[in-house]
Amino acid sequence: MKRILIIEDELAIAELEKDYLELSGFQVEVETTGDVGVERALNEDFNLIILDLMLPNVDGFEICKRIREEKNIPVIMVSAKRDDIDKIRGLGIGADDYITKPFSPSELVARVKAHLSRYERLIGSGQKLNEVIEIRGLKIDKTARRVFINDEEKIFTTKEFDLLTFLAQNPNRVYTKEELFREIWDMESIGDIATVTVHIKKIREKVEYNTSKPQYIETIWGVGYRFKV
Ligand code: CA
Repeated sequence: MKRILIIEDELAIAELEKDYLELSGFQVEVETTGDVGVERALNEDFNLIILDLMLPNVDGFEICKRIREEKNIPVIMVSAKRDDIDKIRGLGIGADDYITKPFSPSELVARVKAHLSRYERLIGSGQKLNEVIEIRGLKIDKTARRVFINDEEKIFTTKEFDLLTFLAQNPNRVYTKEELFREIWDMESIGDIATVTVHIKKIREKVEYNTSKPQYIETIWGVGYRFKV
């Protein structure tokens, strides 16, 4: 049976969601505070998380970020304000879906089912799960060494793949070209740090919608590059 965790401090809403989901055959647990919710989301095996934005102790932004650092399970974020939904979309913190309150419980159930089946297709039934990094439409399958943008595969050379993966795995940190060169080209003596610039350019051409306004790898002028989360 699929297990769903609802992290929601408004008990009436949580109970309503729970009732509908249980009627559809899911096993549902509710947590009403952010700190306990995130703890359980990270340490127990849930198939999907329904996450309210405004929560006591730890808010939904933070919880979603922390889940994404460790898990690829679907996260559906819920908020009372349309503005908040736009904001969290913009932040690209990795939620799979967003719902504005009030919503109909049957719509929630439909979305839960859609995300669960999508996720199952992704991991394949019974197959060993590939190690995948997913950030705002960019999907790096580390196991298969394949890269997708909005489900469209992009062909990467070995070094381009290594460089993108290294940056994506260490987001929100600035690396100098020297550091990246050492990291990716370590034992090879051919080439110099200009190679890094060339590879960044090629990666951007493949993953960015607009290469002059990169959404993934930012240039920090005079310092280096940073993967944006
Ligand atoms: Ca709330």
